[in-house]
Amino acid sequence: MKRDYYEVLAVARDASVSDIKKAYRKVAYETHPDRNPNDPQAEERFKEAAEAYEVLSDEQKRKIYDVRGHDGLKSQGYSGFSGFDDVFSNLADMFSDMFGGGGRSRTGPKRGADVRYDLELSFEEAAFGVKKDLTIPRMDHCGTCSGTGAAPGTRPDTCQTCGGHGQIARSQGPFMISQTCPTCRGAGKVIRDRCQDCKGAGQIRSQRTVTVKVPAGVDTGLRIRMAGEGEAGAMGGLPGDLYVVLAVRPHEKFERDEFNVHSTATISMISAALGDKIEVETIHGPESVKITPGTQPNDVIRIRGKGIPHLQSYGHGDHMLHVRVQVPTSLSREQRKLLEKLAETMQ
Ligand SMILES: [Zn+2]
Ligand SMILES: [Zn+2]
Repeated sequence: MKRDYYEVLAVARDASVSDIKKAYRKVAYETHPDRNPNDPQAEERFKEAAEAYEVLSDEQKRKIYDVRGHDGLKSQGYSGFSGFDDVFSNLADMFSDMFGGGGRSRTGPKRGADVRYDLELSFEEAAFGVKKDLTIPRMDHCGTCSGTGAAPGTRPDTCQTCGGHGQIARSQGPFMISQTCPTCRGAGKVIRDRCQDCKGAGQIRSQRTVTVKVPAGVDTGLRIRMAGEGEAGAMGGLPGDLYVVLAVRPHEKFERDEFNVHSTATISMISAALGDKIEVETIHGPESVKITPGTQPNDVIRIRGKGIPHLQSYGHGDHMLHVRVQVPTSLSREQRKLLEKLAETMQ
């Protein structure tokens, strides 16, 4: 039994697309496999949320779902996600507009392979965005022979053994057995004069520098798809895509919870009781924060707008300051007397 998509994302039935996006990010963040390793329940919820998001963020699919429910979508040939990879490429599509990745062509068996690149970011780079030059090893079209594998000025010849089919038929008793041509190894062509640079392969190992623009607000596990930056296609096929998989290093002082940043401040028992003003480090720089009289241990002070910029949207999260109250461990005789006096007044 599939759960209601609105229920999965905990949004109202008339929620706007941006609310749905926000709700989805929240669930995806909480249930992300990187945060919940080996937790099948989280994995299930992660997939469920991705599916709900895909439907509710698509005007057409949402309409079908609103009117005819899960069965309606099924009859339209939509059956949800098959696995994690699907979910991630869906997440990646949330970015693809920004990187000009229009080419969604998956046609032809000669398309180049997709390439994964793991990119580690500092806490600040993830928060504010960064441009990075990536050096990607990959197989590239040989420029000398334009990928044919034949020396410049020559062309590959049609294989004599198979007549260019790449397969030869052999009879064995009453059966005809089709077999890959041993002369051309199935290519249908033979190269007499090999290209010197690629030794006839048509491809050369190369390195490429690709500049990736990481937007502000990204988090661990997000993938950025760069269309056409993967391996070169064979025989004129389209190149594959490059997937940049992000991992954010933890910070010494800050912890992140979606777009909020958490840190801890230790104040004295006197400051907690009488109130104070302290300076707090945020990702945007130092902030002066008022401690109200009567602040309790573990109180959380919210500093609005001083968190992580929202991904592909306006505004920032907040900075949440967790207050620790320090009780003095050694007192001078005078201090002790004063505290005892205080205690008497508080009986
Ligand atoms: Zn070549
Ligand atoms: Zn052949």
